[in-house]
Amino acid sequence: MRYVSTRGGVAPQTFTQILLGGLCADGGLAMPETYPQVGAAELAAWRNLSYAELAYEILHKFCDDIPAADVKALCAKTYTKATFRTEAITPVKTLEPGLHILELSNGPTLAFKDMAMQLLGNLFEYVLATDGGQINILGATSGDTGSSAEYALRGKRGVNVFMLSPLGKMSAFQTAQMFSLQDANIFNIAVRGVFDDCQDLVKAVNNDALFKKRQRIGAVNSINWARVVAQVVYYFRGYFAVTGSNDEEVSFAVPSGNFGNICAGHVARMMGLPIQRLILATNENNVLDEFFRSGRYRVRPSGEVAQTSSPSMDISKASNFERFAFDLVGRDADMVKRLWSKVDAGGEFNLAGTPYFANVKEYGFVSGCSTHADRLATIHRVYKEYGVMIDTHTADGLKVGLEQRRPGIPLICLETALPVKFAQTIREALGRDPDYPAGCEKLESLPQRFEVMDADADAVKAYIAGHTGL
Ligand SMILES: *Cc1c(COP(=O)(O)O)cnc(C)c1O
Repeated sequence: MRYVSTRGGVAPQTFTQILLGGLCADGGLAMPETYPQVGAAELAAWRNLSYAELAYEILHKFCDDIPAADVKALCAKTYTKATFRTEAITPVKTLEPGLHILELSNGPTLAFKDMAMQLLGNLFEYVLATDGGQINILGATSGDTGSSAEYALRGKRGVNVFMLSPLGKMSAFQTAQMFSLQDANIFNIAVRGVFDDCQDLVKAVNNDALFKKRQRIGAVNSINWARVVAQVVYYFRGYFAVTGSNDEEVSFAVPSGNFGNICAGHVARMMGLPIQRLILATNENNVLDEFFRSGRYRVRPSGEVAQTSSPSMDISKASNFERFAFDLVGRDADMVKRLWSKVDAGGEFNLAGTPYFANVKEYGFVSGCSTHADRLATIHRVYKEYGVMIDTHTADGLKVGLEQRRPGIPLICLETALPVKFAQTIREALGRDPDYPAGCEKLESLPQRFEVMDADADAVKAYIAGHTGL
């Protein structure tokens, strides 16, 4: 399996070559040259595999430059009951016949990002151990990404994590999750500023090429291909859980931000999984809904990004969307380059009226938008009718999923976080506190370890250099 850039400017690379990198050298995103096809016999054979076994079957098709036995061992080590609190790893909760929730939030940080990040942590450690290397992960987070990266990389040999977050802006639970980690390789930096300041600092540090090289700065952001591919696995699992045979179709509803989660659904569908619809839900920040409805892709200036009660979907642009666009335009890299030269310059493009946009339907995509009022109403109704408490992001997905599903086709709504992470909105919707999963009750009273800093790139660089020994 080789990987090409969506912008066509780099020679094909192997999986391990793209694993530790971010953007391709030409600014594009890595994509597999072709999608491995899963035939009827293979799909039937996969139906009764454990999560770890299924993960191996899917992943090794995408990383055939890692010995199969090692991929198998990495999957077995990652997808355990000890880490994900259930044997099934991603159990399905059925609300009523034909309406299901796929639980993806039983990992250490109670959000779906653990599904991929836990594997990525083990992959990093494996690859670095093979070449004796070291990597210093620098990231910015407004909540979920940072904590799932820290829990995946804590204590890993050869890896340090420097995570910037806006001081006092994350929920109490998210803050406690990150800052209570006492591992020597985890460095929490609370920046006096907002999330955008943190992102700008990461950019500024990365723009210093010499520093970046000397300090071996890396990233685990959402464009990482290994994260996307690890997420493909649970689409297959969800499908098997709600169907009795492999000629049935299902639809998935996916609360979307950076388009990483639903991109994995697109890959699963391209591999041959019988998915009828991929239902994309946005919150008030509806960049993606606007595209799928009208063909217009308009990135928002950061001042136009609303702070919502499903904060992990508050995005100005959807960084993985370029991957889908590459397929949509028939893998014409020159076309992607042309479109994104406008996006990268702060502009927009519009595919309305083109044959490309007419193809969106063939890829199964439909979309919708959910607001704060919708979120509250959905959380309330699901709790009242089914006795199930869902979080704000999952509520966005469910709301749009119900609008866009077709009769007779089972709908699987992806649960992307647990309600405890967003207690304030749960109280607003239900007039009560969310349930605390076992083992998390004391989290907010544990001692916290973090460094407070001004939004000053030189100070951040000095801090990193002072802690890496490089
Ligand atoms: C990251 C996140 C999302 C958005 O996922 P994308 O892959 O960025 O589309 C949705 N919900 C929660 C809880 C998240 O943490």
